[in-house]
Amino acid sequence: MISIIGIGPSRENMSLKAVNAIKAADVIITYKKYIKNIEDLVNGKEIILKGMGDEIKRAELAVSKSQEGKNVALVSSGDPGVFGMANVFFQIIGKYDHVDVEVVPGVTAATFAASMLGAPLHDFAVISLSDILTPLSEIKRKIKAAADGDFVIAIYNPLSKTRTRPFEEAHRLLLESRNPETPVGVVRSSEDRVAVTITNLKNLTDHEINMSTTLIIGNSMTYVNEGRMITPRGYRVPYKTHPLAVDFYEKYLKGEGNQGPNMECEFYPCHGHQQNCTFCYCPFYPCGDCSTGGRWIKNKGVWSCEDCEWIHRNKTVECIQGKLPEILHEVDDLKNKKKDLLKLRRECIYLTR
Ligand code: SF4
Repeated sequence: MISIIGIGPSRENMSLKAVNAIKAADVIITYKKYIKNIEDLVNGKEIILKGMGDEIKRAELAVSKSQEGKNVALVSSGDPGVFGMANVFFQIIGKYDHVDVEVVPGVTAATFAASMLGAPLHDFAVISLSDILTPLSEIKRKIKAAADGDFVIAIYNPLSKTRTRPFEEAHRLLLESRNPETPVGVVRSSEDRVAVTITNLKNLTDHEINMSTTLIIGNSMTYVNEGRMITPRGYRVPYKTHPLAVDFYEKYLKGEGNQGPNMECEFYPCHGHQQNCTFCYCPFYPCGDCSTGGRWIKNKGVWSCEDCEWIHRNKTVECIQGKLPEILHEVDDLKNKKKDLLKLRRECIYLTR
């Protein structure tokens, strides 16, 4: 049996299945750097250490050792199916008959980095900027497609001393289609520590980035709150519609609501200059995510919209008004159709940012 095992980013992140598969092996084949993470599991076993770039040799060796009747563990960091040894192995396996193989998954850099940052992954793409085996044109095409599709993007192998062009091109493409303020998580692993920084696209090049860095590029919804990077999924927060909001939407639905700025209001402008007051009471309240500036008032359970200027921009109001009539027919729909309203909010955030 050959077990292609991912040991994740560190010993403490290894799965029980990976530990047991290594314990059951007679032969361990791995990259020199990884052996120290599994030292306590390999006593008495044959150990074969290879260098970077020897992936095909490692896979061939695994097959030949298994043909001698041995249990082989082909060990790599992260997940073997994500830019790892599983791919190499299945490329050569067609050369041989009756190879018994299993893939043991591990924690990949994208999910490890995400756990260090908060919860930045929603629908996401994982792209390596290494152009050793992939043409730069393909890397650029994928970055652009992921950026245009508003995916959160996990970038592996971003930058080496000699290989800078893929990163420069990726950064340029991201800035072309995303807001420069888009949050970016920078998670850099070294021998003994993991350094975590949250910056934005505009300032990304101010930070130390190397081949052991994983970048998590946020999407149009991603925000940073209290040092954590979050891409909200959009769960509905139960809440009773405020009586003033009920009055507001009764008028709105009769076509008696305000359009544009309401300079007669004694509070105008409560959310910055030239605000549009069409949605003085927000139809999404409480959206429960901070991507547009709202926040919970601690220990009161109250959602504050004080810092949300987004709802008062002309473009936002235009976007919401385009679809709101399809959802909101009576005031109770503010509660009963909350999920549809929150989906409309997501759509308008993407279209207006
Ligand atoms: S005003 Fe802004 S923060 Fe408040 S509920 Fe609406 S979208 Fe959310």
